[in-house]
Amino acid sequence: MFGKRIHLLTIAGIKIGIDLSWFLIAFLLAWSLAAGYFPFYYPQLLLRTYWAMGVIGMLGLFVCVILHELGHAMVAKHYKLPITQITLFIFGGVAEIKKEPQTPKIEFLMAIAGPIVSLILSGGLYLLTLAGKNAQWPLPVIAVTSYLALINFVLAIFNLVPAFPLDGGRIFRAILWGIKKDSEWATKIASRIGAGFGMLLVFFGIFSLITGNIIAGVWFIILGLFLQRAAAMSRSQHLVTHELRGEKVQKFMTKKPISVPPNASIKEFIEDYVYHTYHHLYPVTEKSTLIGYISLREVKAIPSEKWAKISVHEAMVSTSRFKTITPETTALEALDLMNRSEMPIILVVKGKQLVGILTAQDLFKLISIKLELQSDSN
Ligand SMILES: [Zn+2]
Repeated sequence: MFGKRIHLLTIAGIKIGIDLSWFLIAFLLAWSLAAGYFPFYYPQLLLRTYWAMGVIGMLGLFVCVILHELGHAMVAKHYKLPITQITLFIFGGVAEIKKEPQTPKIEFLMAIAGPIVSLILSGGLYLLTLAGKNAQWPLPVIAVTSYLALINFVLAIFNLVPAFPLDGGRIFRAILWGIKKDSEWATKIASRIGAGFGMLLVFFGIFSLITGNIIAGVWFIILGLFLQRAAAMSRSQHLVTHELRGEKVQKFMTKKPISVPPNASIKEFIEDYVYHTYHHLYPVTEKSTLIGYISLREVKAIPSEKWAKISVHEAMVSTSRFKTITPETTALEALDLMNRSEMPIILVVKGKQLVGILTAQDLFKLISIKLELQSDSN
């Protein structure tokens, strides 16, 4: 379910995108509205009216989910937690926070903000529906606003179920965390309940299918699987963050990396370095002082007939244009830098001396070892 995402728009510095799985769910939702919900409650309308209502209802829900997520994001922003992006799945999005909240209070406020937004939307849309009925708006319009009022209410309640990583689960975790001052333990309990609730939904879905309630059955199964997976992911993400916080880069970086002298030509660089060691990025050093890096991207920008004439020094990205880390940097900060700079490789310097290179693979290796060591004790 967590596959490719498509960027949609940016609001207040927060990138909003949708997961590809959303399209499937969007279609399923429009269909269940057009073929199930609306014809049941408002018979005798035209088929194309039902479909228009279904699509508008689906898009309306989409906007409401964005507002719900922005509710979380705004609280995070208030507490200076960097939220970089929101990815939408239909029943809620995921606001990706680069840092976990430092205190249970912040987590609590951040988690509850979303359902509060949904409840306000629900109330507002309910009032709008009443006003519409008074003003005798066309039935399809009233049908859609009252559906949106209802679905926002459902969204708020569903998200308040204390199953991690749903908002209610986060609230629950924040409370446990506040009581026992142990976020690890709180996450474990909350995500177990989350996975359990997911399983329950799947069973409920299968039961609905058997008893002939196909639409509800499919929905419960999708939600249940989504929750189970999300609970497991959030748990391992939390473990990873927790584990990486204590580890210093010097322990698992590659020491004495291969570096390129600045006076080599691009041709020499390609023949003597790239074709021998097949790395994507090479530090450029002068007497072991780091002065820049060169990667295939810089090389590709130069036409191949000029490779013999241009030096590495002319083509490289100089140190003033990228960030480096020190051996004392923690693995978590390094991962954060990789995320922000979108560079899979970071150079490690001590003073100005190049002492190591850190790749995303190094971090993955560390994480997988840590998780394997953890898996027995949990
Ligand atoms: Zn939420």
